[in-house]
Amino acid sequence: MTHLSIQNLSAGYGDVRVLYDVSFDVPIPGITAVIGSNGAGKTTLLRTLSGLIRPTKGEIQLGGTRLHGLEPDGFVTAGIAHVPEGRRLFAGMTVEDNLLIGAFSRQAPKAEISRDLEAVYSLFPKLHERRRQDAISMSGGEQQMCAIGRGMMAKPRVMMIDELSLGLAPVMVDVLIAALKQLAGNGLGLLVVEQDVAVAFDLADQVVIVDRGRVTRAGTSQEVAADPAIRNAYLGEI
Ligand code: ATP
Repeated sequence: MTHLSIQNLSAGYGDVRVLYDVSFDVPIPGITAVIGSNGAGKTTLLRTLSGLIRPTKGEIQLGGTRLHGLEPDGFVTAGIAHVPEGRRLFAGMTVEDNLLIGAFSRQAPKAEISRDLEAVYSLFPKLHERRRQDAISMSGGEQQMCAIGRGMMAKPRVMMIDELSLGLAPVMVDVLIAALKQLAGNGLGLLVVEQDVAVAFDLADQVVIVDRGRVTRAGTSQEVAADPAIRNAYLGEI
């Protein structure tokens, strides 16, 4: 199996160190969820794994190819797509144009882009209904679908999603979980930051817990979810 491999990664902002010696592997295909309290460094981790922040130490490799040191567009070309927190769709642009922006860095024939667009619409029929509508006029959940669809249009090997379910209706979260499982079933690696621990356990095969910039636990969802100390700390159970 291929991996996005993260080894001894340290990163921060100027003199502020946020991540300390973070190591784990993201299997491709598969779903890995990152959980941890506010300010633990989850967003910083994803920003480092998409080349927006240069690590001060450590290695990032995708299927054995070194990514650390590349510019952000190098990460995209290598096969990493980043769905940022807050989704960052372009206002004043239709759903379809937002999706097409995801394919911008690809040198693909038009027919192939159309086929990929159809794959997004078949995963999220709602987006097809709304394709001519301003993306920002949709509900939060539909906007998250559009942001994920935009990520799909880059044809990534690994898609990273920051705060998948934040602020979304539970019924919408269920739709997104089913869609992501389908994408993983089709071969994609997913790395999802998720503040709702129950959602993370439901979604992911593997869970990584980050606390104050360090990985404190990593394992299969079943294994981590069965741990009484974890249930107590993260699910409020005694
Ligand atoms: P949250 O769930 O609250 O977004 P997080 O786990 O994603 O938290 P980060 O956003 O990665 O955490 O932040 C980790 C630490 O880095 C925090 O202490 C934060 O204040 C700090 N930080 C984040 N962005 C910057 C920045 N641009 N400059 C300096 N420090 C920053």
